[in-house]
Amino acid sequence: MPIARGYAATDASSPLKPFTFERREPNDDDVVIDIKFAGICHSDIHTVRNEWKNAVYPIVPGHEIAGIVTAVGSNVTKFKVGDRVGVGCFVDSCVGCAARDVDNEQYMPGLVQTYNSVEADGKTATQGGYSDMIVVKEGYVLSIPDNLPLDASAPLLCAGITLYSPLAHWNAGPGKKVAIVGMGGLGHMGVKIGSAMGADITVLSQSLSKKEDGLKLGAKEYYATSDASTFEKLAGTFDLILCTVSAEIDWNAYLGLLKVNGTMVLLGVPENAIPVHAFSVIPARRSLAGSMIGSIKETQEMLDFCGKHNIVSEIETINISQVNEAYERVLKSDVRYRFVIDIASLAA
Ligand code: NAP
Ligand code: ZN
Repeated sequence: MPIARGYAATDASSPLKPFTFERREPNDDDVVIDIKFAGICHSDIHTVRNEWKNAVYPIVPGHEIAGIVTAVGSNVTKFKVGDRVGVGCFVDSCVGCAARDVDNEQYMPGLVQTYNSVEADGKTATQGGYSDMIVVKEGYVLSIPDNLPLDASAPLLCAGITLYSPLAHWNAGPGKKVAIVGMGGLGHMGVKIGSAMGADITVLSQSLSKKEDGLKLGAKEYYATSDASTFEKLAGTFDLILCTVSAEIDWNAYLGLLKVNGTMVLLGVPENAIPVHAFSVIPARRSLAGSMIGSIKETQEMLDFCGKHNIVSEIETINISQVNEAYERVLKSDVRYRFVIDIASLAA
């Protein structure tokens, strides 16, 4: 079995530390990938700190993976050695289903997450991208467009698709007023992708400290949610609100910003439940919805869209030894706008 090196969490409260582990043996359908870069998603932090109460340690996090193919199995037709590829949040989907549902696979009960899950063999723990190599079935590997740099493309594999999918599903485009709540890793991708789709994007952030960036990335307007007048000014304004906030906020206040028939989509996952009043949705036939990443098919579509529009993430590259410090900075919203680990630093 191939030996991988990486960083792992061994419990909910200790820092991540160096960890060596076995990957599964590659078979005829697999692609072996030399990982070059891994983005740090807020979900990595929720998971390793067991905020979602599903952690099985040790956990090597990382589901925004960009790298280079080093070997392919004999049945592999889409990839060859040397290709620039990505791996996102899952490495198998319809395990146990009669057929793969290519449009909704991220919602299938047989989903195998890239880490903190069990491989289709039913026994090997999956481990993520804060490591030097990974073995993934061909059908779950994505092609990264040639014109996009590998490091800044890594966050497209989760943050990018998580915003692209609801923007596409709820028809963001010319004439649609869309609010993005939270200008973090997910949020800034929503600004870039949504404006490239032609939608009229407004950012709702806690303060105006990132306003200049938000406007530069494509937002038409930018408001501070700490200013109560924002909620009066923008009442009944938006067709679509995408909420990327990872903390407990008053969803009722945000629902009031929707037009008649508008939809607010939850993307961020706060640790605790938040009450919603029926009158927040009833008087304007509003919808409160959720969305999770995207299928492999849609993720490739998103990557091709980003290639066409030259969209990548705004990143701060770090060495892997800085990962614990980076987590603290994500928690303080002190990142412009995604940390990406340079996996070459593992060898240092
Ligand atoms: P992030 O970079 O930390 O961004 C979250 C943003 O939320 C922050 O930048 C901040 O924006 C805002 N925020 C943070 N605390 C807040 C508070 N107390 N009140 C109001 N706003 C606050 O995290 P991320 O990686 O983008 O992930 C965001 C959430 O999405 C996480 O919960 C993550 O687990 C989840 N997620 C979901 C999916 C999915 O498929 N649905 C996929 C990936 C991640 P401002 O500074 O602009 O206010
Ligand atoms: Zn993620």
